[in-house]
Amino acid sequence: MNDTNRLAIASTPLLTDNPLMPLLQAQREDFLRVGPPSYEQRIDSLKRLRQAIVDHHEQILEAVNADFGHRSRHETFFADVIGLLGEIRHTRKHLKKWMKPRRAGWSPQFPLAKARIQCQPLGVIGIIGPWNVPVLLTLSPLVGALAAGNRALIKTSEFCPRTAEVVTSMIKQAFTPEQVTVVNGGSEVAAQFSALPFDHLIFTGSTQVGRIVMRAASENLTPVTLELGGKSPTIISEDYPLDLAAGRIAQGKLLNGGQACIAPDYVFIPTARREQLIEALRVAVTRSYPTFAGNTDLTWVVNDRHFARLKAHIADATAKGAEVVEINPGNLTAGPGERILPLTLLLGVTDDMTVMQEEIFGPLLPIKTYDDLSQVITYVNNHPRPLALYHFDNNAARTERVLSQTASGGACVNDVLFHVAHEGLPFGGVGPSGIGRYHGFDGFVTFSHQKSVLYQSRWSVQSLIRPPYGPGLDRVMRLALRWL
Ligand code: NAD
Repeated sequence: MNDTNRLAIASTPLLTDNPLMPLLQAQREDFLRVGPPSYEQRIDSLKRLRQAIVDHHEQILEAVNADFGHRSRHETFFADVIGLLGEIRHTRKHLKKWMKPRRAGWSPQFPLAKARIQCQPLGVIGIIGPWNVPVLLTLSPLVGALAAGNRALIKTSEFCPRTAEVVTSMIKQAFTPEQVTVVNGGSEVAAQFSALPFDHLIFTGSTQVGRIVMRAASENLTPVTLELGGKSPTIISEDYPLDLAAGRIAQGKLLNGGQACIAPDYVFIPTARREQLIEALRVAVTRSYPTFAGNTDLTWVVNDRHFARLKAHIADATAKGAEVVEINPGNLTAGPGERILPLTLLLGVTDDMTVMQEEIFGPLLPIKTYDDLSQVITYVNNHPRPLALYHFDNNAARTERVLSQTASGGACVNDVLFHVAHEGLPFGGVGPSGIGRYHGFDGFVTFSHQKSVLYQSRWSVQSLIRPPYGPGLDRVMRLALRWL
């Protein structure tokens, strides 16, 4: 088959009415013309991405701040800049090993043959990013995609337009459009983007939009990785030190203004410890934020729509009988246009309240009580499978019980959030909180085709099982029945 025919086959279906199709086509044709990149070329791509991030880091801090109204520059630096540089560093360190074909184990059916699993690039990867950690979550999948030798098209979130400009400029500095291209725009562009026949599509965003993306991808049989959200429960045991738990929960709940997919969504505490927990949270929050007014360490709620959504949760819960406890050091009254909410504890919540039905994504923290751990396990299992589960407990047996009897994308024992930052752990959801996983080696594998290759030996068992089948083979069949 000549090259022109190969390209024609690889390019079908030709979605000629999709205005983004030429971008994909250009990348795919170049990918097929040039062939899979070597280890050195992949390392070079990662170095170029790293340099672009370093060169643009001040612009990243400014742009994310502008898009949020206010975003702590330290939070942007650690989450969006350092998080990404760490991912690149880890990938560069291990890529040679990851690229090596892996040997499959010896098989008695193939005593002299060799069997290997060889990773090869898939081709063009589509990446759709969210607004909440807009640089990290848009470019972290790119690290895995480049390591695996792919090209990529990136769709940024329309809710962070200034950040999208900086991401576009970074990508232009580091890559040609045939290698990596950024597409910006709203939901119409997003819909066109997810309709493209990518070789793999990774989406980070809400479960609701995730369904739409998966439906669009299914038209092309494009495999998807869906990094979605959910309500991540936090369980505190009967004897875990409350100052330690409260400090970690407050840190995780207020980081990025609570706008993290794995933020602790609600807390379960033994009934007898509830008042102590409220006090411990008050102490912990006041220690980190002596006053909320004018505090540059506090990240604002991203826009008016989300601000109104959070206030509506509080109003709904109050109307249905919940008690509201605000932790508001310095008694801040937010000025007009300042989208800051105190840490708002909601007590006595029930499942008919919207705050217990939807992912919160903001600084509201429902606190539920329990008397027996079985109640907690039953509650978690009767609700959609969460992206993360947190358990504060020094008792190994109880911890093991919670981990083994509940399902969540990931879990963290005696802390919140930070399992996401461990390079050796894959990251992803389960059920409605996501499909597939990435980060580190798992990102490399997700964006690779794992090709199974059998190197047959000169003498093989299989060549003995050929017609004419005679009585000798009947004996072999009887033996095989006993042996296998
Ligand atoms: P979102 O679903 O509203 O938007 C995400 C992206 O989808 C944006 O780029 C948007 O342009 C695009 N989009 C919108 N309509 C689309 C369509 N019809 N087809 C294709 N794409 C479309 O999510 P968001 O508000 O940006 O982010 C918040 C959500 O993301 C929360 O639910 C949070 O839990 C989740 N999240 C998950 C992770 C994770 O790693 N699992 C990380 C961050 C955020």
